[in-house]
Amino acid sequence: MSEDGLSVSLRYAAVSEAVAEACREAERDPSSVRILPVSKTHPEEMIRELVAIGCTRFGENRVQEMAVKAGRLGAGVSWTLIGHLQRNKVAAACAVMSELQSLDSLELARVLEHEYETTRPDQRLPVLVEVNTSGEPTKNGLAPGAVMDFTRGLATFSHLDPRGLMTVADPDPARADVGFAMMAGLQRQLRDRDGQGWDELSMGMSGDFRSAIAQGSTCVRLGTAIFSQRGTWDPGLR
Ligand SMILES: *Cc1c(COP(=O)(O)O)cnc(C)c1O
Repeated sequence: MSEDGLSVSLRYAAVSEAVAEACREAERDPSSVRILPVSKTHPEEMIRELVAIGCTRFGENRVQEMAVKAGRLGAGVSWTLIGHLQRNKVAAACAVMSELQSLDSLELARVLEHEYETTRPDQRLPVLVEVNTSGEPTKNGLAPGAVMDFTRGLATFSHLDPRGLMTVADPDPARADVGFAMMAGLQRQLRDRDGQGWDELSMGMSGDFRSAIAQGSTCVRLGTAIFSQRGTWDPGLR
């Protein structure tokens, strides 16, 4: 149970309805937006409750927490890393994740490429390029102006499968909206240049998913809206 007394599965159902409603308002097909439940800080029991109603993929922002949960939840659950990935954690992350939404440097791309080449040479990792649309220095991601060059450089990595862009928006709703529009603009430029691809726009969190959907989001990353308050998950305590 979450703190407001609702079960996680009931909250998930309510959030799915809100996402579908936002799609209808934006005259979009609800199946064009996936919900990525962000389970960071939340315990396995809550994740299991979502698995029981059919959720099979979860987002985590720390490699260690993702790895421990993956070990406990076992096969049938997939993991997306949405937090900054340090080079020294690449091997541990690659052992678990099947999608990375926070690719933010060519250096990281190189280390990922090498890890795949040596440990899983027949596979490719789906990646999204993280963009810092808010300009806040504390946020990860590339400056919007660097995205075109960066993505051209990615083409040389045979084990990376770039599928789109991701952003964590400015907390201020008006600025968030500007950031979402910027993302849609970058996506258009990438498609114009490459003729295809770049289908994914991962943008929108619990507080701003409606406007993100209006601006073309294809993946909303929802933590507190599904799990209620931030949890206190600690691998050492459970
Ligand atoms: C925690 C987190 C989320 C989910 O945020 P909520 O506001 O709890 O929905 C989404 N994206 C990233 C990158 C996060 O770290």
